[in-house]
Amino acid sequence: MYLFESFFNDVFNIKSVIMALITIGLIAIMMVMTYLVAQRTARLSRTRTFILEMIEALVVVGGVFLLRQTFLVLNGGSVMSWAYAIAQLMILLYSMYAMQTLAVTLVNLAMPLVFYGQALRLGANTRYWWVFMLTMAVLFGVIAYISRHQDLVLTSEWRFLVLQFLYGGAWCLIIWSARPYHLFYATNVLVVFIAYMWIIRFFVTRVNHVINHFARLDQAANYDELTGVRNRANFDTTTVGVFGVYRQHPTMPITMAMFDIDHFKHFNDDYGHLAGDAVLKHVAQLFNQELTKQTNHGELFRYGGEEFVIIFENISPVDAQNKVTTIRNVLQKSPITINGDTMTVTVSIGISALQQSDADFDSWFKRVDHYLYLSKEAGRNRITVEGQTQKL
Ligand code: GH3
Ligand code: MG
Ligand code: MG
Repeated sequence: MYLFESFFNDVFNIKSVIMALITIGLIAIMMVMTYLVAQRTARLSRTRTFILEMIEALVVVGGVFLLRQTFLVLNGGSVMSWAYAIAQLMILLYSMYAMQTLAVTLVNLAMPLVFYGQALRLGANTRYWWVFMLTMAVLFGVIAYISRHQDLVLTSEWRFLVLQFLYGGAWCLIIWSARPYHLFYATNVLVVFIAYMWIIRFFVTRVNHVINHFARLDQAANYDELTGVRNRANFDTTTVGVFGVYRQHPTMPITMAMFDIDHFKHFNDDYGHLAGDAVLKHVAQLFNQELTKQTNHGELFRYGGEEFVIIFENISPVDAQNKVTTIRNVLQKSPITINGDTMTVTVSIGISALQQSDADFDSWFKRVDHYLYLSKEAGRNRITVEGQTQKL
């Protein structure tokens, strides 16, 4: 009874309430952060995604560190408390479910080593090193499993329960291997830990649901259903912003490229509307993929029908010409096969930079459209940059 009472006193007191509040705060921050990162990474280069993932991992490490420091202060310089251990485990495990990145998985794997190393430094006994090694192996397996199947684990109740138990249990034994305690505490820790995580799971799945709902709405409103690239509505809102940026930085070149598939009607007429759709998808996705491979790349929009626009910020018309021509050459080498016929798709292109004399967006847009028209007039499969037409 004494053990239970001492555990009870340790877990349910004002310090623990403070810890719980901080833990909830940290989890809320991680939740918001995950959402923001998830929204952005879809459009970011690999390096930037990597940086963001590192920041996420740092937030987790920072969170654990913050908990530690808070507890040191609250507990008069000691971190020996179950409430503290549970809070840390919650942050670590939550980060795995929420962030789903390699960096966070590595943080989870490194934490027991950090803990053990520190315990040894503070004079812990190495008598049970083999318990540490064995439970590390179990924890490693659990973490690897969760990192590969987060969504499955979140939706399956028994999997979640078993993994909570293994994760919490492994940690209890790791702590025990450095600082042996009465194992009765472990059962209490597990019960409290699993109960808390169960509540967190409830919120995580609800929040994920809401986030997915908004992501779908955003997708439907801003992206073209057929090709998956940004749509006309998104183009209209984007260009308002672009015009504002130009007013603030008039020396920064902003270039628009417009391209239109040549003789697209033939695909429809000869092979049917679905084949025409396939051609549109092929061209749009190829451009989009190749654009994201480029550094400081432009944003692709389907303006309408088989006509697309790319906005290049901080890129001169000559550079935009090089970028677009490179992609166009890839398109040339990627023919599409319809009903057994292999065909190359060509495009005509118009390119112009936003100029001081452009009173509004329309005058710029009309100029680019006119250059595209010049490319068509000159025989198609051509590019017109600031009035100069060239064969591609
Ligand atoms: P040009 O070389 O002058 O551009 O000739 P074109 O045949 O490509 O252009 P035109 O404007 O004559 O025809 C475009 C056709 O694109 C007409 C329209 O039916 C078709 N179209 C527009 N949107 C879609 C779509 O979403 N799917 C399919 N399959 N066809 C579409
Ligand atoms: Mg066309
Ligand atoms: Mg057209």
